[in-house]
Amino acid sequence: MIELSPTPVQRIDPLGLWVKREDLVHPRMGGNKPRKLQKILEEARRQGASCLLTFGAAGSHHVLATALFGRLAGFRVRALLFPQPRTGHALSVLRASAGQGVEAIPLGSPRQLPRALAAFRGAWVIPVGGSSVTGALAFVEAAAELRAAVDRGELPAPREIVVATGSGGTAAGLAVGLAREGLPTRVVCVAVTRPVAVPFASVLALASRTAWRLGVSLRKTLDRLVFDGSAVGEGYGHPTFRGEEATRFAAAHGLLLDPTYTAKSFAVALERARGGGVLYWHTLSSAPMEPLLDGAPGEEQLDPALRALLR
Ligand SMILES: *Cc1c(COP(=O)(O)O)cnc(C)c1O
Repeated sequence: MIELSPTPVQRIDPLGLWVKREDLVHPRMGGNKPRKLQKILEEARRQGASCLLTFGAAGSHHVLATALFGRLAGFRVRALLFPQPRTGHALSVLRASAGQGVEAIPLGSPRQLPRALAAFRGAWVIPVGGSSVTGALAFVEAAAELRAAVDRGELPAPREIVVATGSGGTAAGLAVGLAREGLPTRVVCVAVTRPVAVPFASVLALASRTAWRLGVSLRKTLDRLVFDGSAVGEGYGHPTFRGEEATRFAAAHGLLLDPTYTAKSFAVALERARGGGVLYWHTLSSAPMEPLLDGAPGEEQLDPALRALLR
């Protein structure tokens, strides 16, 4: 249903930092969400679902990806949206989601819960960030893809992979996949939400369930996880100074970052790169936003309850 390409690795000199260019996984929208959705939509289709329901912050990349790929595959797509700090990037993602035909239900206050609960009726529910076991399995396969690149001599086996961690499916799937492939690489989970124990607990829970599903050793899986809560700043969606510095450095090397996720994870990758053997897993799309915004409502035309989610 979704055609994805294997993604290349690139080396940033003079740091010796490697980058897994997940931004190039699909020409319309890259990043870490298409791999998860490919598996999730296949499952929803197999089960005979026709309407998807998911959740996220107003500027959620997962909600946008679900709207885009879900609608292309012929599903109705509903999403419960939560408030998030206002940035230009968050506003374009929200407008694009609306333009891609998501039926958005703003959850600015508990009063809106009854309407939200009605949306569950008859819908195939996709958890926050697409981080179900099914979603994580996509990153077990991505670890195999990395292993193949190492075997072909495209990069040395990394000592660690640095990845932004929200709902945890990307890091969890990678850890299981690395354990399964027998690669010694560890996954450094960079928290982008507060309190940082929440994303780390999500990774642990999902990694253990995914390892269980595949019969991969739990000890070998958990051994591969490292948790880094140093870059979160004030919390989800709040830009940080360190993130802004990392963003300028990345731009000089042709990589575009966002303030919510990748500015924070890239800052950690830069710091850890001094130790050598670091692969930064680039989870953001680099596909142009304009086509996704084509025909999308302008800020003024957005439902005021949706617009009010960006505060
Ligand atoms: C969703 C997202 C993440 C977090 O991935 P999880 O699998 O939810 O932990 C990281 N970076 C970007 C750009 C994202 O959109």
